[in-house]
Amino acid sequence: MDCVFCAIAAGRLPAHLLHQDEDFIVLLDIFPMRPAHVLIVSRAHAPLLADLSAAVRDRLLALAERMAAALRSAGYGREGINLVINDGPDSNQHVPHLHLHLIPRRPGDLPALLWRLLVRFLPLGRRRLQVRLQAEAERLRRALGEEN
Ligand SMILES: [Zn+2]
Repeated sequence: MDCVFCAIAAGRLPAHLLHQDEDFIVLLDIFPMRPAHVLIVSRAHAPLLADLSAAVRDRLLALAERMAAALRSAGYGREGINLVINDGPDSNQHVPHLHLHLIPRRPGDLPALLWRLLVRFLPLGRRRLQVRLQAEAERLRRALGEEN
């Protein structure tokens, strides 16, 4: 199986990890729609939300709330964060492995968001993006109290 999220969860691919526990890993999306675009990824290779147990779904929601609070305290999405699960192939789910997006929003950013939706996978200034992701990851780990 060649699943990018399984490879990250197993430590076989690098990622800007923010948190991990027995059910989930949390990382920055490397194709961010907006700054500090966070992904909560299940450890299990489960394509759909319905594939997770009810207990794990509850922990997913609790972790999403914790991540949203960390984003806000780090200055991202204070007045709004989109929490999105693309559940199944026809829903724009590019990796068939359950993940919840947290996309911090700002006033007036809808054109930028729509533009990124169109050009999502174009490699735009990868070097500069890596520097930005590194800085965002450090800021969010501090907000989570998970510097290490
Ligand atoms: Zn997977």
